[in-house]
Amino acid sequence: MRTTTYCYPWDLARLGVEPTLRQITDDGFDGIDLAATYHPIDSVSPRDGFRLFSDGRGAVYFPARAERYGRIKPRIHSSEVAMAWPAAAEHAARTGLTLNSWTITLFQPWIRDECPDCARVLPGGDSSGSGVCPANEDVREFFATLCLDIVEQFGVDLVRLEGVMPHIFDLDWLRARSLVRMSPLLRMLSNLCFCGSCIARGVASGLDVARIRATVNAVIRAELADDGHSDDRAAALKADAELVAFAENQVGASIEFVRTIVKRIDGRARVSMNALTPYRSLVGEERDEQLLCDFIAASDQVDLNVLNPAGNRIIAGLNARLDLPRPLSALYVTIRNPTVTSAAALAEAGSATIVKSLQAAADVGVRELSLYNYGLLPDADVVAFMDAVGQLR
Ligand SMILES: [Zn+2]
Repeated sequence: MRTTTYCYPWDLARLGVEPTLRQITDDGFDGIDLAATYHPIDSVSPRDGFRLFSDGRGAVYFPARAERYGRIKPRIHSSEVAMAWPAAAEHAARTGLTLNSWTITLFQPWIRDECPDCARVLPGGDSSGSGVCPANEDVREFFATLCLDIVEQFGVDLVRLEGVMPHIFDLDWLRARSLVRMSPLLRMLSNLCFCGSCIARGVASGLDVARIRATVNAVIRAELADDGHSDDRAAALKADAELVAFAENQVGASIEFVRTIVKRIDGRARVSMNALTPYRSLVGEERDEQLLCDFIAASDQVDLNVLNPAGNRIIAGLNARLDLPRPLSALYVTIRNPTVTSAAALAEAGSATIVKSLQAAADVGVRELSLYNYGLLPDADVVAFMDAVGQLR
């Protein structure tokens, strides 16, 4: 089993790139996944005291070459943090440590601030405060350029794309304040994007997007009323072929987004991503699985999550059906924070449970495990992870 660990460039810059990477190698890791872009974050590192890093709108964290980019120019956090990248690449080339680029894609509020038309648009017409749309040509161009920029400058082995499907409007650090009950159906529909690019794609596919949007908004209003008829509405939507096609079109935009990046890199590095679709209950299992297969086939490797064994079995099963099954990697998150319940429960459950969870990932074909995240964890958790990996069959 190969192992890698996620790293924040600000942790490497603060702790020292050379000693930290030496320690990571001594801990037994084969490689690191170094963040090249990042979303809004307040992170606490227990290494060298109790250190808080804060970035409210996300940024680019490597010395991107601005002249290469189109309308969206990289917003570099600071040269001090970005310089962790060339130092890490130099170390990796010298020592054989694998260097991967951990690349956050659509959860980039700074892009949305600088180019508002790149934002996703909710069915009601309001722009997302945090997410950009994969159907937008400028967004595609930016990330294709960015990934090639990283590959050319640093010779990374793998570009690990995070978040290629648009995220829900109340994700994470930029959580909207809402005091209403939101049904799964409402949440799913709220994820449909009606930005200019998505509307144009729908119209070009022959869909009556205005009618679809009116239907979606009527159902959202009815769901907010919480009248007990959610199942009837969900059934009616499944029979709405245009709406189903519009949802598939949105997954298609993310698949094309990945393909655009893969094409631009052109074999100079591998590309991995997490294949997810949010519309299974709307489009049906058969169509959803075809979309997932298209997703998997768009990349060179699939990233799973140890904490999602049921989803992992589905993806691994679909992957096995491809002519050329992709290698499977899995993220392992250990979280002591009780607000993240599933991960916290696992972390507190003891080493036998950790081994069992990692073994379940190995059993579906995972051959690389990635520990999240070196700077955020105390050494004892890193040692516990490596001990568990050593016990896998
Ligand atoms: Zn859109």
